Amino acid sequence: MDNYCPNYESCRLVQTRVVVSEENVRTTYISSYCRNSETNWTVCKRFITKAKYDLCPDFVLPDSLLSPEEILDRFDGEITNN
Ligand code: SF4
Repeated sequence: MDNYCPNYESCRLVQTRVVVSEENVRTTYISSYCRNSETNWTVCKRFITKAKYDLCPDFVLPDSLLSPEEILDRFDGEITNN
C-alpha cells in the first residue's frame, strides 16, 4: 500500500459508486490520484479537504476547482437547506 493514498480504505470515491458512477472515470481518478507513485493524492481536493476539515462531501472530486473553504461553505449550505 506504499503508493496508495492514506484515505484509500475509507474514501467513498474508491469504495462506492456514489461519488463517481461512471466506472471509466472512477478508475482514471484512482490511477491518477489514489494509487500513484508520484503521491498525487496530496493534490487531491478530497484529500486536502479531509485533512483540513476532517470531512469529504460526495460532491468533491479530486480535481475540483473549489477551494476547501468554498467546499465547506457549500457543505454547510446543504446541511442548512435539508
Ligand atoms: S479520491 Fe483523493 S482522498 Fe480519496 S483515496 Fe483518492 S486520492 Fe485519496
